[in-house]
Amino acid sequence: MFVHDAQPMRVVFGAGAVDRVAEETDRLGLRRVLVLSTPRQGALAARVTALLGGRAAGTFDGARMHVPVTSVAAAEAAVAATGADGCLAIGGGSTIGLAKALSLRLGLPSVVVPTTYAGSEMTPIWGLTEDGRKTTGRDPVVLPRAVVYDPDLTHALPAAVSGPSGLNAIAHAVEALYAPDGTPVVSALAERGVRDLASALPVVVADGTDADARSRALEGAWLCGACLGATTMGLHHKLCHALGGMLDLPHAETHAIVLPHVAAYNLPVVPEADAVLRRALDTDDVAAALRDLARQVGVPDGLRALGVDHADLARVVDEVLAAPYRNPRAPTRGDLETLLEAAWRGGS
Ligand code: NAD
Repeated sequence: MFVHDAQPMRVVFGAGAVDRVAEETDRLGLRRVLVLSTPRQGALAARVTALLGGRAAGTFDGARMHVPVTSVAAAEAAVAATGADGCLAIGGGSTIGLAKALSLRLGLPSVVVPTTYAGSEMTPIWGLTEDGRKTTGRDPVVLPRAVVYDPDLTHALPAAVSGPSGLNAIAHAVEALYAPDGTPVVSALAERGVRDLASALPVVVADGTDADARSRALEGAWLCGACLGATTMGLHHKLCHALGGMLDLPHAETHAIVLPHVAAYNLPVVPEADAVLRRALDTDDVAAALRDLARQVGVPDGLRALGVDHADLARVVDEVLAAPYRNPRAPTRGDLETLLEAAWRGGS
């Protein structure tokens, strides 16, 4: 038996789709829209502000990584000052995370324009950071009301960000394929998403302006993000959260390094998931194919290349063993030590 609970998601996808933002906010009946971005994406924010014309209430370019409550409070003040009745977030997971925080706290509806492969726009998961502690939760109120994907906006995403970010998206699909709440719809999304990303990423990294590859990569990120939004993640995400949280590691790179090792550990006991991934990656060794892809797209070689001290691995093992999560195999301390040792060492 399975239950498929489809998320309400309106997606507008295609080169030049950003030109339709005003149509999307009109559809929602929004009259005063606050545009959200990071400081680095101010030019893009200015572009959508111009596209919104009289519907734009103002801009807030203070989105920051991990959604600090201080940045949310400043954005709330901007909402109050401008009388905004909705927001338009343009950027990656950090900016979309700010829009989610405003939806959670103020019930503000959002239209989002993602410019990375993180996939946050497809999930009801919110996160907030206060005094260095990140709290997360699920609430359907944070789901964007419309998502506008314009691959042209991703041409500027540097190769060093595109590769790991794409592998991070693949990790969502891999874990969705053996999730306790997986469904045939999720499996179909995962297969297509992994195939799209695996074929597009090497081209994207070689030539960031290849329009066809950028479009396929963003489509894959959408589908893999939908897998994340629909299911409960397992050992891979648990390990990466522990590593990232305890050792302050870069999010996407950590996922990209750890993924082949978790795949090698889990897939032998979930043959259906393995079969889907073999088809998607056109391989008979999924873990090896993921390792090759990571190498090809410039993912750093092992956790030690991220500066992880070998002595810290034991603490991460303790943390993973301490908190329960669903996974096809229940790893022992020895299993986790072997897995992390290999992920730390890299190579092969
Ligand atoms: P990000 O949003 O922090 O962006 C990284 C940097 O790249 C920023 O400075 C941004 O301005 C810049 N950037 C974004 N798009 C660009 C483009 N096209 N060209 C040039 N520069 C660009 O990074 P991210 O990887 O998108 O998001 C990671 C965050 O999202 C993490 O904090 C993660 O926890 C969160 N996340 C949340 C969910 C969820 O479901 N809630 C899912 C995935 C990720």
